Amino acid sequence: RIAERAALVDAPATPGALADGTAVPLLANLGSSKAAQAAADGGAEGVGLFRTEFLFLDAGGSAPTIEEQRAHYVELLEAFPGKKVVVRLLDAGADKPLAFLNDAHEENPALGLRGLRALRVSEDILREQLTALAEADKRTSADLWVMAPMVSTVEETEYIVGLSKELGLKTAGIMVEVPSIALMADKVFETADFASIGTNDLTQYTLAADRLLGSVASFQDPWHPAVLRLVGEVGASGARASKPVGICGEAAADPLLAVVLVGLGATTLSMSPSALADVRASLARYTLDEARRLAETALAASGAAEARAAVTAALESLK
Ligand code: PEP
Ligand code: MG
Repeated sequence: RIAERAALVDAPATPGALADGTAVPLLANLGSSKAAQAAADGGAEGVGLFRTEFLFLDAGGSAPTIEEQRAHYVELLEAFPGKKVVVRLLDAGADKPLAFLNDAHEENPALGLRGLRALRVSEDILREQLTALAEADKRTSADLWVMAPMVSTVEETEYIVGLSKELGLKTAGIMVEVPSIALMADKVFETADFASIGTNDLTQYTLAADRLLGSVASFQDPWHPAVLRLVGEVGASGARASKPVGICGEAAADPLLAVVLVGLGATTLSMSPSALADVRASLARYTLDEARRLAETALAASGAAEARAAVTAALESLK
């Protein structure tokens, strides 16, 4: 029995897929290159969100050099030969402040100079990060994609995709974390190679509830149909443009919501590695047609609790 169990642990996880065989690659959210190999060994089919804030926080009072960054990116990419690895450009500000990039005196930091907005003001740091990534890409065989956080306009999309390509990156996209850019998704896909929806911030901005504030925590629920309608908007635009739409917020780690998100048009899901197995098992139970019907059920609800309850009830009728 112990040997049987050991064999199960060693067996490579099957790729994420729906019951009808539709592939839904399951990717890892990572914050450190040190965790990359374990994620690959644990069945992640690639990386859907590599958060680079920690690299910059660990460097002390200034940005890490191009060489320092490159070493981390190479370690990350080497754990995923031939696989997709999506690196997010530095997302400083609000819940992740960095002294050398952010103004500590903003009254509303979540609505301030954060994410791509802050990088643009310190364009030398942005250019160095893109350069380090392009150099790491040349040294490894992983399929490196870069994306910008906290994009709120089409102009910002054009700017970051243009700069990324100018500096040698092949695939560049944006995170959809702000309602304005979700609503402009059709225009986004005229420039961006892909989009990845950050449901944590998208929920915060859609419900206008600070994600760090306990007193409004009940609003921070990605099951809210307002959030799901925005996800559906991006999913539909991505499908029309034949471009990938990932999900990299916490919502992707909820086994039932993951099915709904695929029904809304998500083509990949990224989550902390510990959530992969449960989401993989859940997706395997439903066809794409069923996922779409569950998504319709969620969209028709008037609030988060009702959406969750309606989808749970609808599962009974699928049996
Ligand atoms: C998100 O906002 O959903 C996201 C994935 O980014 P972070 O949680 O790092 O802000
Ligand atoms: Mg975010």
